Amino acid sequence: MPELPEVEITRSGIEPYLVGKIITGVRVSQRKLRWPIPRDLALRVTGQRIARVARRGKYILIDCGGNGRAGWLILHLGMSGSLRIMDSKTKPQRHDHFDLLLGRQLMRLRDPRRFGSVLWEGGDIARHRLLARLGAEPLADAFTGAVLHAATRMRKTAVKPVLMNANIVVGVGNIYANESLFHAGINPRTAAGRLSLARCEALAAAVKSTLKQALAAGGSSLRDFVHSDGTSGYFQQNYYVYGRAGLPCRNCGAIIRQLRQGQRSTFYCPACQK
Ligand SMILES: [Zn+2]
Repeated sequence: MPELPEVEITRSGIEPYLVGKIITGVRVSQRKLRWPIPRDLALRVTGQRIARVARRGKYILIDCGGNGRAGWLILHLGMSGSLRIMDSKTKPQRHDHFDLLLGRQLMRLRDPRRFGSVLWEGGDIARHRLLARLGAEPLADAFTGAVLHAATRMRKTAVKPVLMNANIVVGVGNIYANESLFHAGINPRTAAGRLSLARCEALAAAVKSTLKQALAAGGSSLRDFVHSDGTSGYFQQNYYVYGRAGLPCRNCGAIIRQLRQGQRSTFYCPACQK
């Protein structure tokens, strides 16, 4: 599943091909994604000039207000979505559900599992129902240990699902929650409300460094957004705990354990994470 680093790399990969371009139309072959693609989308976007490509959490936000008419395309990659820039003559394949037409090029959404989305917001993007309640951006300076500490007081829930709660901090998916807790030395079952300020600071720093390392790794392996075959190609990294149950900890040699929290697999080192 594309997590925040993949979404940010996708955003920065498509950005140079979109900014300043006039949208010449859309092609929709499958309207039924996570939410249906609006029927009037072509009417809304055609003729709009793209001003910038932003991101909030795992939503890619295309500002179509470059010629004065406001409006935003909201894209989400869901479980299996990917975006590619292609020549406008490239024929869509089976899982290619949506094209944003940009004259001689197009931006194509491929999404085999169809949990992605393509939506339109004509008003205040910050108030859109999917964005209004989102928590802190983990890579922004505003996300600090103090913010995490304040947001987790009174929470008896284990820290790992709290870290994955988008109302507190956005875009920390299962892989990065596991890895961040390892680097901060925190047992994933610890009640979030019992973490000291110092441990929240260590955790916020670990979230930032884990995501930045993934961005650096992806920046080299996922660079080509043009003329690619459209397969998603999301990058694999050398994780410390994620997916390593039964293997020795890279730090201390203890055996990595696995448990279930909610519907998700948790991996941790019983010696390094107290
Ligand atoms: Zn260890």
